Amino acid sequence: MKKLFSIFGNPVSHSRSPLMHNSVFKNLNFPACYTRTHLLDGDKLKETFFTLGLSGANITVPHKEAAFKACDEVRGFAKKIGVVNTLIEENGKLIGYNTDADGFMFAISEFKNIKSILVLGAGGTAKALVNRFLEDDLQVSILNRSASRLAYFEELPCKCYTWDDFHVQKYDLVVNTTSAGLSDENLPAPSEIIHSILGSSRYVADAIYGKITPFLALAKENNITYKDGADMLLGQGVLANELFTDKTLEKQDIQREMQKSFSY
Ligand code: NDP
Repeated sequence: MKKLFSIFGNPVSHSRSPLMHNSVFKNLNFPACYTRTHLLDGDKLKETFFTLGLSGANITVPHKEAAFKACDEVRGFAKKIGVVNTLIEENGKLIGYNTDADGFMFAISEFKNIKSILVLGAGGTAKALVNRFLEDDLQVSILNRSASRLAYFEELPCKCYTWDDFHVQKYDLVVNTTSAGLSDENLPAPSEIIHSILGSSRYVADAIYGKITPFLALAKENNITYKDGADMLLGQGVLANELFTDKTLEKQDIQREMQKSFSY
């Protein structure tokens, strides 16, 4: 019997996950189908998952923390950060994982000698990435619009700034994890701050994919090597698909077929 998978989000219509996973299932003859579910209330996640008879799912904005709470068991890195982006059904139980952070590490693997990183934003994605960077003993600074979300990061060994008290330093990499530029033309911080950051950075990455954000456009103007969120999306997708198919498929085959879906 075919297994059914889905992505949950609000909004969810823009998600590329169904294309990515169905490309793997179809081309590698894995009997499964991947759909999308528009979920308004994160508290209904578990109930909806089992009502639909799903074998697994991905979770996107804004339900990743609700997904953590919905799990019967959380494994690996997700447990540390309280953020789940992949769910698996195992013997009637909901098991949670996070593949976003390792997906990002895959995305930046071609950037060399990264020791210091500035993260723009302090939401769920920043939480995952910062904890992952600290596992690799990287020096991390965080710049966020408002102070309230910085409280979590102040407990970690990293420097935290708002726009009001920011002091620029030299960074090997700057990562935009804010949603500025996703559906508007905003920069992730005021223009003069962004210009000073770009004048002090070797590489730039944006979690947003499918468009050149104003932030990436400025990086390009400054001749800085940059990448958008597509490789991060690919990386987290490959790792999630390995969980969905329980390692019955080879990782490089999953990656090849998923990559193809980016040209559809
Ligand atoms: P959250 O809602 O958890 O966090 C959003 C962050 O963005 C907050 O720090 C918020 O600051 C900041 N922010 C929002 N609007 C602005 C603005 N106009 N100017 C400056 N800062 C702003 O979101 P997520 O962390 O879940 O997602 C963030 C982005 O990452 C999204 O665009 C998402 O699509 C993308 N993403 C991409 C992935 C991929 O695979 N490529 C995977 C996961 C996420 P404040 O605290 O002040 O409100």
